Amino acid sequence: MENKKELRNWLNAFNLSHPLVIAGPCSAETEEQVLNIAHQLKTTDTTAMRAGIWKPRTRPGNFEGVGALGLKWLQRAKKETGLMIATEVANTHHVDLALAHDVDIFWVGARTTVSPFIVQEIADALNGTDKIVLVKNPVNPDLALWLGAVERFYEAGIKNLGVIHRGFSTYEKTRYRNNPEWQIPIDLQNRFPDLPLILDPSHIAGRRDLIFELCQTALDLNYDGLMIETHCNPDKAWSDAAQQITPETLRIITEELRIRSTDG
Ligand code: PEP
Ligand code: MN
Repeated sequence: MENKKELRNWLNAFNLSHPLVIAGPCSAETEEQVLNIAHQLKTTDTTAMRAGIWKPRTRPGNFEGVGALGLKWLQRAKKETGLMIATEVANTHHVDLALAHDVDIFWVGARTTVSPFIVQEIADALNGTDKIVLVKNPVNPDLALWLGAVERFYEAGIKNLGVIHRGFSTYEKTRYRNNPEWQIPIDLQNRFPDLPLILDPSHIAGRRDLIFELCQTALDLNYDGLMIETHCNPDKAWSDAAQQITPETLRIITEELRIRSTDG
């Protein structure tokens, strides 16, 4: 439990609730959509709003994000609500733009964690930053690749580092879109006990009715946070429609989980 005290210190330094709740749409779509969600999230236990503006998709032909334009919308959401803002960065150009727009939390996506040279470039671009950097597990169940990415960020002097468990791809037909393989993040934590661990139930589940049970398991396992895809009109979302929940459902889930904000 000693290490958990450290984790709380890490979160407390940012005056964050514990566990940390990061919520928001898979993708920023329009300014109106981003602001709408931000204002609704502000009334929940959410500390930071997520929204993808650069979306590396496995296959071409899907929505790949609104691009840098979305940073202005996120910046406005932050100004109007006081929520921290989080987005995915997949190259150094993204890092520079996100830094210039006051993004608080940078996350590295599952399709980027698999690529050591890109990870290194992103780590170098963030060298010494006090921003929060969260590294998603690679798409495939490969602990070494995940560890390698974490090591590159630590070596670049990133102090406020954490990891996101978003499940692992599989050929088999399973209950979840991506298998949780709970042992892999536990193995990672055994190697880096001070590293905050956040669950992304949305990309594990692939469908909204499984979000609650995954969050409950994570809290039982002492995870430090949750990143949950949330949209005001989930069925109409431009990406990952089946797994997104409304801010109202998020409120019900966090109440059921007995998450309480401590950051007012
Ligand atoms: C996302 O967070 O919307 C996303 C695409 O996640 P992942 O990199 O885990 O697939
Ligand atoms: Mn998504």
